Amino acid sequence: MLYRFEFHPYRRAFKRPLQTSHGSWEVRDGIIVSLSDETGISYGEIAPISWFGSETLAQAVDFCRQLPSEITEEMIFSIPDQLPACQFGFESAWEGAGEQGSGGAGEQGSGGAGGYKRTPNSLRYSALLPAGEGALEAWQALWDQGYRTFKWKIGVNAIADELAIFDVLTQKLPGKAKLRLDANGGLSYDEANLWLENCDRKLAVEIEFIEQPLPVEQFNLMQELSYCYGTAIALDESVATLNQLKTFYQQGWRGIFVIKPSISGSPSRLRQFCQKHQIDLVFSSAFETDVGRQAALNLAVELSRQNRAVGFGINHWFDQDKT
Ligand code: MG
Repeated sequence: MLYRFEFHPYRRAFKRPLQTSHGSWEVRDGIIVSLSDETGISYGEIAPISWFGSETLAQAVDFCRQLPSEITEEMIFSIPDQLPACQFGFESAWEGAGEQGSGGAGEQGSGGAGGYKRTPNSLRYSALLPAGEGALEAWQALWDQGYRTFKWKIGVNAIADELAIFDVLTQKLPGKAKLRLDANGGLSYDEANLWLENCDRKLAVEIEFIEQPLPVEQFNLMQELSYCYGTAIALDESVATLNQLKTFYQQGWRGIFVIKPSISGSPSRLRQFCQKHQIDLVFSSAFETDVGRQAALNLAVELSRQNRAVGFGINHWFDQDKT
């Protein structure tokens, strides 16, 4: 099967910069790829986050540039593992192409065989709060929109300041709310202990987990922390790609795994792995446009088991009319 191939880089500014322990992120760059044949056209998105462990945008653009204008399925399935965001973008476009002909151009078709009718609308979403004090004001509007799970970035400001804000935030949030903390690998071992002690205290809201307290290299310490505290730990940066996910699963991680489908690599291989192993998954956004978002959410619908909220409550970080 031959597909006509085109690609279009895009740039999309955050409404305000996203602060993480890695610094400030102002513009999301990515690539929309299209595959067409006589039955129609389908799209995929390459949305790399190189500081998170995927290829860079430049590497993805170079890869697209060296491809011929007509490509085959074999070419798509031999994209190297060093280009996980490309694997995802091309393979999800290819899956879309395979679904054409059934008439609908929507998300309905995927999720697919069998009788169950879960759709992205049936998922629960976690809303991303701004780092620092901004969270104290931002949660209310999101709560009013129906969000009940919130994520707050830590490891951005001094720990004493963040712990003080955390105290206020956990009192302000309604009792039914759940809070996730995301350190993006930015804590020291001592700081991680301090955060976990604070989360283990009796708080007015449930702390669902702390995401990636320590850098990727410190897996053994995170493993140890996961045994020492009641609050759960989720690996995120550590398991950015499917190969990393497999590695840490084999090394014995049985806590939570965050999966950002857009950078984790081949969706078909991710599917195989998740269907074979009962792992506790949280699906999460890589700040894609709607193209990548739909493909990622379809995977979340298919593969989430524990029914944890998905980390896709991020649309408020962009102006919706300017994609
Ligand atoms: Mg994270």
